[in-house]
Amino acid sequence: MKHFTVVQELKNIEKHTHSTCDKCGKEIKKETYNAYNEDWFEIKEGHIYPEGGCFSGYKMELCEDCSHELVEILKFNGFNIQEVVIEY
Ligand SMILES: [Zn+2]
Repeated sequence: MKHFTVVQELKNIEKHTHSTCDKCGKEIKKETYNAYNEDWFEIKEGHIYPEGGCFSGYKMELCEDCSHELVEILKFNGFNIQEVVIEY
């Protein structure tokens, strides 16, 4: 017969502390009233099913300044990026 007792197990877990820009390297600060999302560039390709899947892609975290710079670079190279204004 196996007997069990309850023990408290301590283990290290990863906790997100901050993000840095993948271009300039500076810390991406989140302001309380800033809706900016540093994870806006992400492409996933592959298959995802409930039991598992496989995908690959690209992801980039950018600060607000570098994001604006990238938008200008993309516009200059012919990408049609729509400007959006949301008021509520
Ligand atoms: Zn940056």
